[in-house]
Amino acid sequence: MAVDLELQAAVAARIQYFRDLGVFDFYRRGLSITDVSVQERSANLIYQSPLLQESEISARKFSPSVPETHSSRSADIAAADHAAALQAIRADLGDCQRCPLAATRNKIVFGDGDSNARLLFVGEGPGADEDAQGLPFVGRGGQLLNNMINAMGLKREQVYIANIVKCRPPQNRVPEPIEANTCSPFLFRQIDAVHPEVIVALGATAATYLLGAKTSLGALRGRLHNFHGSKLIVTYHPAYLLRDPNQKKAAWADLQIAMRELGLRPPKRTDSGAESEGA
Ligand code: URA
Repeated sequence: MAVDLELQAAVAARIQYFRDLGVFDFYRRGLSITDVSVQERSANLIYQSPLLQESEISARKFSPSVPETHSSRSADIAAADHAAALQAIRADLGDCQRCPLAATRNKIVFGDGDSNARLLFVGEGPGADEDAQGLPFVGRGGQLLNNMINAMGLKREQVYIANIVKCRPPQNRVPEPIEANTCSPFLFRQIDAVHPEVIVALGATAATYLLGAKTSLGALRGRLHNFHGSKLIVTYHPAYLLRDPNQKKAAWADLQIAMRELGLRPPKRTDSGAESEGA
């Protein structure tokens, strides 16, 4: 079918314009912007990468036995497409000076992990270790998050991790609304770029800004929400779990909801205590 490339470019420019304004949720003929962008990315595969071979098309699976269940996800989006989209967002962010956090940060913490991930975690904002390294969740909370990911039968490199704000709030305070509202549109674009099947919101700040509702964590936990075509689960922030380990059981119950959605089972423990891959 002939496609008007000028029209395609004009539509893409208009979508980018709205995104720059922080507008993400607009709809056309019943499709969300996420669905539209997936279609555009699929179209781009045809019009920008005519030489793409079937063998280059990514199968977005953790293991061959894991079923692909994300009905709105286009399985034929090349991994390179997700990575390129993330790179473009990083370039837009630049040496960001858009909010007051820029004045005190050391490094921008953009996000980390597989641009093609089926599972994406969102935290609140970088702490001291993250600010020093430019990577999310690398401190004590990060070690616990790594353990949570491993308990799900995954490796950290298989998921994507980002935060509501990309610069450390002084004294690790909760980000101010002006900071979160300025920064979160970049996160929303990252989520659209990765287009995970499941998002785990870690703590109240992530849940509030992703779901757009200031409700208690307790009221949001334990059930599936939707975000831009992905399933979203709310659970406790690892820093909270470090302070109150009794809540780890409840957090594990939340993660198991995510695992069910992904068709994952936790790794089996062998007699020696070592973990073998879960199906
Ligand atoms: N806490 C967060 O919310 N994010 C990080 O990256 C580190 C700690």
